[in-house]
Amino acid sequence: MTDRLVALVTGAGSGIGRATTLRFVQSGAAVLGVDLNPEGLEETRRLSGAPGGVATLVADVTDLEAPKAAVDKAVSVFGRLDCLINNAGIGRAKAAHDTTDAEWDLYIAINLTSLFRFSREALRTLEPGRGSIVNIASVFGLFGHPHTAPYAATKAAVVGLTHQMAADYGPRGIRVNAVAPGVIETALTKERIERDPRFQALNIDPIPFPRLGHPEDVANAIYFLSSDQAAYINGHVLAVDGGWSVT
Ligand code: NAD
Repeated sequence: MTDRLVALVTGAGSGIGRATTLRFVQSGAAVLGVDLNPEGLEETRRLSGAPGGVATLVADVTDLEAPKAAVDKAVSVFGRLDCLINNAGIGRAKAAHDTTDAEWDLYIAINLTSLFRFSREALRTLEPGRGSIVNIASVFGLFGHPHTAPYAATKAAVVGLTHQMAADYGPRGIRVNAVAPGVIETALTKERIERDPRFQALNIDPIPFPRLGHPEDVANAIYFLSSDQAAYINGHVLAVDGGWSVT
């Protein structure tokens, strides 16, 4: 059995999930990347420069079969699973009055229910003292914020789930933490960063730091929380936002 960390990263075909996959691989870990998008996953694998260290599974995280298929594949390819990174997510500007039932249900399914199901499945195999889960929340889940009703509701629930699971599984030696990114330049935010003056005024101008966040900034925090450098950190929500949430 290998001693390197083995991580399962959802949404590994773009943005923060891709940067996280590359960060783990650079540190000698192996990663099973899961994404809907086969081309994105393949590009992540190519960029890793270590094709043997990255296995992929094309799947929709809302598919009932996906969590078991992903955990089974990580264990069969790499022999174990140590870290689950619940990252796949969607997000657009939407106020409550503007949100259809179908949109609401989709946010809940992708941004919340899938994290619960992947966690439940990973808990079958995560090893006490070594296993951990990192959920990707958002600063919009920590504070009231305009035009983010379904997104913020799911991200606030992710914070609650993180705290609750930390309390349940910490006693078993399995840590559960979250990161709460601010504005990070990815496909998710590109259009609003470039074209939405209201987004600029609310979310970018107040950042007390001279640049936007990069996916690698979040990947570094995720890797830290997953590693034994964070061995006594459990139930923490780490904002990676250039200080936006404290202004
Ligand atoms: P992104 O759009 O660049 O990447 C998201 C990835 O998830 C894509 O590869 C997409 O194909 C995949 N995905 C989406 N739905 C899926 C599904 N149903 N099944 C499988 N894969 C699916 O976005 P990102 O900015 O890297 O976001 C990653 C996470 O970070 C999300 O949870 C997002 O809410 C969170 N986040 C991002 C920001 C930001 O500013 N970018 C801020 C706070 C939180």
